[in-house]
Amino acid sequence: MVIVMKMGASEEDVQAVVKMIRQVGLEAHVSRGQFHTVIGVIGDDEKVMELPFQAYPMVERVVPIMKPYKLVSREFRPEPTVIRVGEAELGSEFVVIAGPCSVESEEQVVETARLVKEAGAKLFRGGAFKPRTSPYSFQGLGEEGLRMLARAREETGLPVVTEVLDVRDIELVYQYADVLQVGARNMQNFLMLKELGRQDKPVLLKRGMSATVEEWLLAAEYILREGNHQVILCERGIKTFETGTRNTLDISSVPLVKRNSHLPVIVDPSHATGIRELVPPLARAALAAGADGVMVEVHPNPQQALCDGAQSLTPQEFKAMMEDLKAWTSLRKPEGR
Ligand code: PEP
Ligand code: MN
Repeated sequence: MVIVMKMGASEEDVQAVVKMIRQVGLEAHVSRGQFHTVIGVIGDDEKVMELPFQAYPMVERVVPIMKPYKLVSREFRPEPTVIRVGEAELGSEFVVIAGPCSVESEEQVVETARLVKEAGAKLFRGGAFKPRTSPYSFQGLGEEGLRMLARAREETGLPVVTEVLDVRDIELVYQYADVLQVGARNMQNFLMLKELGRQDKPVLLKRGMSATVEEWLLAAEYILREGNHQVILCERGIKTFETGTRNTLDISSVPLVKRNSHLPVIVDPSHATGIRELVPPLARAALAAGADGVMVEVHPNPQQALCDGAQSLTPQEFKAMMEDLKAWTSLRKPEGR
């Protein structure tokens, strides 16, 4: 259930309703929009129905939410959420995040960060803790890698997006990251989602490879419910019967998420395809479908990459992709559709 307050409702009016909700043991989440304040009520539906909302003169309307997720829904917040990180405004402009799959050396990250910045990327990505299918594959440089990412930020000013693999690492990764990434394999690590919900930095939540859009949005709900409303959703492809690509990019999830949620959604065409040549056309598809950005793997020398070389763009290819995207961005209508 969401309670839409009338235009001009004061903080006192809002708090009076919040107090009444909490008095009966229900949760109240307040969202302040440009024109209206909305209060999300969570708890036993029957109890909610009994509350005398209409007795409050500044309550405009009471809207039931039929979806299993509440705080991430469009009903709770009709306007898109805009997340500001460095110079980027996720949710109001098309943002490109780029960098290597994993941090390999200071030289590699600093060089890549310079190159992607020059080509127009607004955020830098790189993994220091890598979730690898085989325990014998390169697992990432850990804290040393995080320090290298911080160096790349110092050199370029680009904010850093990096993955948290384990709830025990949140405190450490928090010290170095500007955006905390939850990988596909951890999308339903509910303990970690809750803990990230208590942080004050944006979370980039990747879609699990076998997760439905509803399960993905419910995972985001875990984070919002703890108080952190800065969640960026990232479609990275799902497992299907197709073997020609690493995963299948579910492009339809972009407009579907946009319809059902106010959160920004970006696309990762690198992990979706696993094939470098397919990355630029799918980045363009993401833009056309209304995504708020893309996250792309770039390596100065993909043949020597310790992880995901086959899907990493060379700096030249990345530059060409950025020019292509720039041309298409100017054709896009407001709100991406
Ligand atoms: C990544 O972005 O580095 C990554 C491991 O992606 P995913 O979790 O989508 O597989
Ligand atoms: Mn990768």
